[in-house]
Amino acid sequence: MAQGIPDDVMMNAALIKDLVDVAKDAALQQGVLMRIQETPNSSEMVTYTSFTLFPTPVPKAPFLQALALQTHYNTLVDKISQDPDFLQDALASTIAVDDFTARLFRIHQQILKEGRSQSIVLGLNRSDYMLDQGEDGKSSLKQIEINTFAASFGVRSQLDSQRIPDNNPAAGLAGAVAKAWELYGSESDGLEVAVVYFRNGYMPQNYVSEQYWDARLLMERSMAVKCPDISTHLAGTKKVQQVLAKPGVLEKFFPDQPQVAEQIRATFAGLYTLDMGPDGDKTVAMALAAPDRFVLKPQREGGGNNIYGSEICEVLEGMKEGTERMAYILMDKILPTPSKNYLLIRDAPLQISNCLSELGAFGAYVRRGKDTVMNECVGHLLRTKGSEHSDGGVAAGVAVLDNPLLF
Ligand code: ADP
Ligand code: MG
Repeated sequence: MAQGIPDDVMMNAALIKDLVDVAKDAALQQGVLMRIQETPNSSEMVTYTSFTLFPTPVPKAPFLQALALQTHYNTLVDKISQDPDFLQDALASTIAVDDFTARLFRIHQQILKEGRSQSIVLGLNRSDYMLDQGEDGKSSLKQIEINTFAASFGVRSQLDSQRIPDNNPAAGLAGAVAKAWELYGSESDGLEVAVVYFRNGYMPQNYVSEQYWDARLLMERSMAVKCPDISTHLAGTKKVQQVLAKPGVLEKFFPDQPQVAEQIRATFAGLYTLDMGPDGDKTVAMALAAPDRFVLKPQREGGGNNIYGSEICEVLEGMKEGTERMAYILMDKILPTPSKNYLLIRDAPLQISNCLSELGAFGAYVRRGKDTVMNECVGHLLRTKGSEHSDGGVAAGVAVLDNPLLF
């Protein structure tokens, strides 16, 4: 780990123990907190949000590349959300077999039919990447997914070091919300809602009964600025991600900026359709022949839904020629270079772990009608997990917060 923490520090048990104590106290002092599983609704008992003891070395070029691309990703998501024909085509196979996406799509259609009630759009998203280790030893930035719904961990993390870049996404995200609120021009009698920020509603389990769907529809039809609105929600689906990777699709969204399309495309990993037909059949054969090279993804968010390794074969063989396979996409597995670190997770033993990191770039944009009022990259997020885990985020208890140490 040439660019990182020297081995004699890593292996010095007494020093590590001292550092861990100091680091946990610092986390408590700075409010890097989360609730605990035993008492998930208590404000009496909380713990630190899991984090790495040391920052993880990240090469500067791909880090800056991710930040520089974010405004283009904002534009892309926003353009997709305004293209009903594209969404209809892209999601046709998915909604035929995936009830959750189909219900969201129905709301989207109803809004289109009635006409959008609000011309102000507020987008807060996070594009996630891993650094794929190429055969030539050079790492390249590859997108895992883009989150257009409840992109979390925009927490403040500021450290005093030249190699750890400043980061304050919360300020930028809040700035965009404030801008949307201002544009809405609320006279605010205390009854009107100017901005709806969805923290939840991206999982089927969030819709406990029909009333929850009614509430979603009510919010979508309201005058409030929705973050995200239903079409931006759909623009963030994994199926859309796969369709964008098809030749020429991305280029259509940037007709006058081929270089932007090229820069975005450079971050795409291989993405493959499982629609019925020869292309989908080819994908199945490819996955069955080398399942360890791929990740099988359903249209779900929040961690823990993807399928890896031999389980890919079980699932695909179980579906055979059935249309259920259209609910999934297949993606190349990205292989980052592992690094060593200590993951500080409550009640977990303190040990050196082999770790993989995922870099996120936060985007914030506001548009009114045709007018882009704001389009920014407002910060980053580095999450790190033990390499034994294929999947999982911070909330899922697998990944932990980290900071990039640029080199
Ligand atoms: P979710 O919506 O559940 O967050 P993601 O696509 O982000 O779905 O996948 C969850 C996790 O699985 C990621 O954080 C990453 O650790 C892992 N993962 C997803 N796609 C890939 C991939 N193509 N290669 C390697 N790991 C992946
Ligand atoms: Mg994710």
